[in-house]
Amino acid sequence: MIRNYISKLMKNLIWTIILVVVSANLLARTNSTHSKISGVQGDNTYKEFNCFAVIAGKAATADGSVLLAHNEDDSGEQMLNIYVVPAKEKRDADGKTVQNAKYLWCEFPGMEVADAFLNEYGVGIVSNSCPSREDRDDFTDGGVLYELRTTVAKQARTSKEAVTLLGKLVEERGYRGSGRTYSIADPNEAWIFSAVKGRHWVAQRVPDDCVMALPNNYIIGHVDLSDTANFAGSPDIIEYAIDRGWYNPKTDGQFSFKRAYCKPSTYISDRNVLRHQSALQYLTGRQYESDPDSFELFVKPDRKITLEDMIEILSSHGENLTGEKAGKDVMEKHQECICVNHTVLSTIFQLNVNTPAEIGHIMWVAPGKPCVEPFVPWYTGMNKAPEGWGRFSTSEEAEVKHFSDSKGMRANYPEAKIWEIVDKWDWLTENYGERIDSVEQQRKEMQKKIFREHRKRMKKLRK
Ligand SMILES: [Zn+2]
Repeated sequence: MIRNYISKLMKNLIWTIILVVVSANLLARTNSTHSKISGVQGDNTYKEFNCFAVIAGKAATADGSVLLAHNEDDSGEQMLNIYVVPAKEKRDADGKTVQNAKYLWCEFPGMEVADAFLNEYGVGIVSNSCPSREDRDDFTDGGVLYELRTTVAKQARTSKEAVTLLGKLVEERGYRGSGRTYSIADPNEAWIFSAVKGRHWVAQRVPDDCVMALPNNYIIGHVDLSDTANFAGSPDIIEYAIDRGWYNPKTDGQFSFKRAYCKPSTYISDRNVLRHQSALQYLTGRQYESDPDSFELFVKPDRKITLEDMIEILSSHGENLTGEKAGKDVMEKHQECICVNHTVLSTIFQLNVNTPAEIGHIMWVAPGKPCVEPFVPWYTGMNKAPEGWGRFSTSEEAEVKHFSDSKGMRANYPEAKIWEIVDKWDWLTENYGERIDSVEQQRKEMQKKIFREHRKRMKKLRK
């Protein structure tokens, strides 16, 4: 069994090396055709382990990068594909020529709210389910969902521009899910954008010197739409809450978006509260009570945040909480907190204005659980994805078939690299208590090696 396990690790190492080699092949641009994607599935709103995000502004990080870290949590066996989508010119509905950006695309076939994107301008987008209390439908043409993230990937040159694009789509078409918060970052700043079923939304900028954590409930509180440098949203966001009886200015004090619009059960869910608490404790070094009202939206970290800090948070299981969550070393089972049993992808966007042009922008990817898999750098400067990470040879085909070909993935695409990772997880959890230490040690060693290679590459390119 040990030999089997080592063999799996070696396979993993091999794709890491392939990636690193391919990553060195940078820059050339190719044109190809894109196809319009239309969504057919509903929002994914099962229990509240449904993604987690951490954002650090550029003055809060050790290297001046904006860092956006995210765990993608989805039930069932999910097939991760990664594509490099080339830039493309296309005509819009009015016959105007539009330039679509080149971007990296982490694709889960058939999913509307799971894919991660990072484009050539360094604009990255991921999202967390945040159920709202809205129970009225208000859509045009079925509303908008998947298209929100693809529009940002193709069109946004900054995260603020992404907020404008998303707000327009939600207002024009109506948001089809219950509620969701999109985390959007670029090398200068980051925003969070909360969509509510129907036509309402609000967005807030992350202050440069702050960090924030996002579980599966809305976290934006006070809203000041007159402060356009830091807020954007539906003009009637407060009035609508008053009309619906979700906010009473006479008894509730200052308006709080999260208190007014969040589905109440998710706001107080242990699954959300404990993950939020754990992340804030990691980021600030302070102890928090398990009370969501006491969690600040933005906090100043107790040190400059690094990529390693983000990896530690994404791969954590409540080790810094007291009570039954504490003491992972005595656990016989994988403990769920920020990293959970159905985490299918972990990404960290490391966005910096000084990244060498050949690299472009960096998406660190741990396919599967971040406590098991090391993070590998994918660059927007790459020309194509390594063998085995896309079920089709072209991103155009993947776009066309994103929804239409999404069943029986393992049977239809048995050679994909992701199955080795899924199988490794199954092997690990057969005897987690005995196997996790060696798996963790291997992950850490591989991570160090990957970081060394990446740093070497950056240094060479900067010369
Ligand atoms: Zn884990």
